[in-house]
Amino acid sequence: PRYNARDAAIVLASMHGAKTLLGSATPSIETYYKATTGRFGLVSLTERFEGMQLPEMRLIDMSDARKKGLVTGTFAFETERLVNESLKRGEQSILFINRRGYAPIARCKLCGYVPKCNNCDVSLTYHRHSDKLVCHYCATPYSVPDVCPACKEPGIEVLGYGTERVEEEVESLFGHASISRMDLDTTRSKDSYENIIENFSKGKSQILVGTQMVTKGLDFDKVSTVGVINADSVINFPDFRASERAFNMIEQVAGRAGRRNENGVVAIQTYNPSHPVLSYLLQHDYIGFYEHELSERQRYNYPPFVRVIYIYIKHRDQIAVSSIAFEYANRLRKLLGNRVNGPDEPYVARIQSLYIRRIMLKIENNASITKVKKLLNDLRIEMTNQKLLSGAVLYYDVDPV
Ligand SMILES: [Zn+2]
Ligand SMILES: [Zn+2]
Repeated sequence: PRYNARDAAIVLASMHGAKTLLGSATPSIETYYKATTGRFGLVSLTERFEGMQLPEMRLIDMSDARKKGLVTGTFAFETERLVNESLKRGEQSILFINRRGYAPIARCKLCGYVPKCNNCDVSLTYHRHSDKLVCHYCATPYSVPDVCPACKEPGIEVLGYGTERVEEEVESLFGHASISRMDLDTTRSKDSYENIIENFSKGKSQILVGTQMVTKGLDFDKVSTVGVINADSVINFPDFRASERAFNMIEQVAGRAGRRNENGVVAIQTYNPSHPVLSYLLQHDYIGFYEHELSERQRYNYPPFVRVIYIYIKHRDQIAVSSIAFEYANRLRKLLGNRVNGPDEPYVARIQSLYIRRIMLKIENNASITKVKKLLNDLRIEMTNQKLLSGAVLYYDVDPV
């Protein structure tokens, strides 16, 4: 079963006659909508704990910095200077990059060939520690080819930055500091997560490089610089929640800075400095962001104005998955009209050898979800009986996050 933990908590509480308390500096758009339209109660904290200041947010225009030669590797001079100043004051820095591994892309520099996973429709991430190309969807490792399989020349190079490569660059820029890295790869073994946190909170390491793992809930006294190395990779995701996710993630990692001192600065590196999400982040303006996002959601008819149900169809055969999804969507459209969108190919259209198609249902908030459920179930049974779903896996994601 797929469920949203927040909604499950609310249902569980109501079953027991209990109340649910949701707490966040960045509530989901749906939650805040319910809180401001009378469905939920709302209590606002308008000051930070003990009156501390929020960290100063600085946008760093990376294309401008590159033009002026003010970049080393993936670090703008400005970010580098802030980290150095923190080090001089005996304070700490957190550098956030939402990709693990060394480099997210391998490519032949002669013919443009990109090695992909045999089982998934994704390009492979280079991991230096293991010297392998790894699929982040099914974990299959591949050797780095000596010559390009397409043009037979030794042209394979790796591009972009993941946590491993950022860590390596941090070592060369701030070699005198002690550095930790926190991502899925460094936290696999027992206690390693706790050890990294404990080392950093005791000041045994001065710079923490990490993925999303560093954004949530950690309370360190001496962090005065937070660097968001590649804000664009958080913002540019083809999904209706991309802006919300980006705002939350960057605001949350920013909240790690300056919790006990007034020097907190957050450097946000971006090639897209005029993106609206960034302008709200600069002001720590959740309400402004919420209102902007809410009007976008209303205009394009997305939650909280409707409920979304994704229906996924998976199959080993690419032609079969297309025709099944097409037939399914047609029959569904006869029942639900223009509430049915698609089928389309999701962002990653093949995982573990299964091709994937997705149909999106937008259901009015006041519609009976029990009726929708029955209708979907009846359609599945009908198509199964007519042998139209053979070999296919069908599943639903209700209120996707
Ligand atoms: Zn794979
Ligand atoms: Zn090639």
